[in-house]
Amino acid sequence: MAFPETRLRRLRRNPTFRRMVRETELSVDDLIMPLFVRAGADVKLEIRSMPGNYQWSPDTLAQECKRIEGLGIPAVILFGIPDSKDPDGTQAYAHDGIIPRAIGAIKDACPTLCVITDVCLCEYTDHGHCGIVLEDGTVDNDATLELLAKEAVSHARAGADLVAPSSMMDGQIAALRSGLDDAGFLNMPIMAYSAKYSSALFGPFRIAADSAPEFGDRRSYQMDPGNAREAMLEVQSDIDQGADIVMVKPALAYLDVIRETRRITDLPVAAYNVSGEYAMVKAAAGNGWLDGQRVAMEILGSIKRAGADIIITYHAKEAARWLA
Ligand SMILES: [Zn+2]
Repeated sequence: MAFPETRLRRLRRNPTFRRMVRETELSVDDLIMPLFVRAGADVKLEIRSMPGNYQWSPDTLAQECKRIEGLGIPAVILFGIPDSKDPDGTQAYAHDGIIPRAIGAIKDACPTLCVITDVCLCEYTDHGHCGIVLEDGTVDNDATLELLAKEAVSHARAGADLVAPSSMMDGQIAALRSGLDDAGFLNMPIMAYSAKYSSALFGPFRIAADSAPEFGDRRSYQMDPGNAREAMLEVQSDIDQGADIVMVKPALAYLDVIRETRRITDLPVAAYNVSGEYAMVKAAAGNGWLDGQRVAMEILGSIKRAGADIIITYHAKEAARWLA
């Protein structure tokens, strides 16, 4: 069938037809809201590089989670800003660290909200790298694994519902799985940051989480932006190690990687619509250069269309309102 028999415009003629044949629909159920927490009380500090996002203290965070839950968003993912940092990131796995305290506050306020924790050392190390740094400046993979497992267990003990290791150390999923299992958390799912790229789009996050590396960069452990086949090796490796959900980060510049991940696995696929993607939309919308709402929804829809089941996004709250 070709023109003139085929006229694809027939089914675009009115909103009802368009609604009936729409292939991809974003839902509030797809969204996860990232949140930043620091010590103190009554804290609500706006993050300049990410308008509408804040650093919270555990008490204000719990109230924010009530609002998030009220919008129908099923889950939040927490990033901690510790009281103090050191070379080994000891606050990352302290039982009374900022994340365990935050989980307690959230669970008191919203017992059924899914609380996900980011498991990495970079927010807690004084050098800002995602693991233990050796004298020659390289990151010690296997020594880091042990600490990541301890961190995940400390989050599980505090009541986290899901842990998400993001350091890009080889073997991190297996290390967390055995650490969690040994501690009795057989049912704790792991969302693996499987294909996490060494991306300039993380810039605003590093301001938000105060986690920029003091020296060097993360290219010796995060992925090279030019590589897609290697991403499938990362994804497959995480699946083999026991990941329950696999993730691609960032999302928008890596839609091909999301699509390919969707193709090789039937596990749920997550994508992280990162701080830089969010900040670009906000900056352009703030200047009147584009319609922020329509662009944000188009981007989130494209991430879903590429194959993501779960989207971590700073737009989550506003998207939930727009969807309602
Ligand atoms: Zn990290």
